[in-house]
Amino acid sequence: MRQKFGLLGEKLSHSYSPQIHSMLGDYEYKLYEVSPLELDPFLRERDFDGINVTIPYKKTVIPYCGALSQAARETGCANVLLRRPDGSLFGHNTDVSGLMYLLEKTRYDFSARKTVVLGSGGASAAALAALRRLNARDVTVISRTGEDNYKNLERHRDAGWIINATPVGMYPETGVSPIPNLDAFESLAGVTDLIYNPYRTELLQRAKEAGACAQNGLAMLVAQAKESAEHFTDGRIPDPKIEEITLTIARQSLNVVLIGMPGCGKTSVGASIAEMTGRDFIDADELIVKRTGRTAERIILDDGEEVFRKLESGILREICKKSGTVIATGGGAVTRPENYRVIRQNGVVFHLRMDVSRLPVTGRPLSARAGAGVLAKERMPLYESWSDFEASNDGIEHTAKHICGVFMNAEINV
Ligand code: NAP
Repeated sequence: MRQKFGLLGEKLSHSYSPQIHSMLGDYEYKLYEVSPLELDPFLRERDFDGINVTIPYKKTVIPYCGALSQAARETGCANVLLRRPDGSLFGHNTDVSGLMYLLEKTRYDFSARKTVVLGSGGASAAALAALRRLNARDVTVISRTGEDNYKNLERHRDAGWIINATPVGMYPETGVSPIPNLDAFESLAGVTDLIYNPYRTELLQRAKEAGACAQNGLAMLVAQAKESAEHFTDGRIPDPKIEEITLTIARQSLNVVLIGMPGCGKTSVGASIAEMTGRDFIDADELIVKRTGRTAERIILDDGEEVFRKLESGILREICKKSGTVIATGGGAVTRPENYRVIRQNGVVFHLRMDVSRLPVTGRPLSARAGAGVLAKERMPLYESWSDFEASNDGIEHTAKHICGVFMNAEINV
């Protein structure tokens, strides 16, 4: 009989686990979305051979286990339950080794300086266990209600590494950081954020801007899944599989974002990329028309550019937190600095270029008023510094194909 594996949690619609496990082995992996009231009968019935456990049940499942691994005992959390031949449950915690995999990738010496761990929940316990195994010298947990909290963070300005084990900044509440300002951390070498959606949290973007190393939690998610799969199947999966799957999931979840001058073809090229890749296409300007009943041109002429830009920033905050889409931004999106992190949170950004002489100005009030050449001169440095890649619009299909090729082969970094 085919064995039954899966994921137990309360809300699982955004989980990457089924995709990851489909790449780890040939077994059935179901989502068990169970409410707190249904949890007890579910765990007593045990109609599964092995399951992963996620928020909010990693602690709750412990009393149901007949035996626990060292990592599960140490953290008080189990994210893997294995049904043993006598029907009892064995609880294990693969978050610890998953996080060790992630931290070891940095080649940073955690014994050299203080490490700050934000949050005191299950992931924080896994972080403490992983840091112990890495001989971390000095670890401080920051808790909203603890002696070390967000109001006296300056006590830890000597920290060399920060690990975010809180959900602050996670989808759908993106664009916020548990530590708004990293300037005080003078010796900061890096930040690990256990969040993986969005790909680049606000905290990670700030860390990168401060010159520190930035890591998200995707490889940890895959590494813990790999170890779970080894327990499920009683087999070995080679480590390079972790990077292979991490890259595949990253590519699937990132957005292709087009920026560029008004009239350079973002809408038609974007729609063509979406068709070629089977992704959803979102055009920021079209969404504004849908929401307000007025075109960008009309809003700029009637209410002024400032009103339009505010509207546009709101729309970008909404659409750029989505995953796996193609997004065409308005030509002036780059004129608002706050849109930069919004666009990059999940975006591989392409600057679509077209010779100024070919850019239309009709229906584009800013190009018509200043002249496309003047506007291009102003904005070109922004398009260049905001984008990962440039693509010249040499025909819709040809350009779309080119962008797809670059995207599929691009090195993906936080
Ligand atoms: P949890 O058990 O609910 O703990 C989260 C902790 O974060 C809480 O104990 C709390 O600590 C702090 N916190 C919660 N809301 C906060 C807020 N609004 N502001 C500041 N702090 C807040 O959750 P968890 O299982 O530890 O997960 C934490 C995060 O890690 C989630 O985003 C989860 O997705 C991620 N995670 C990722 C992986 C991976 O494989 N990449 C694995 C596990 C978890 P205090 O009350 O002490 O402040």
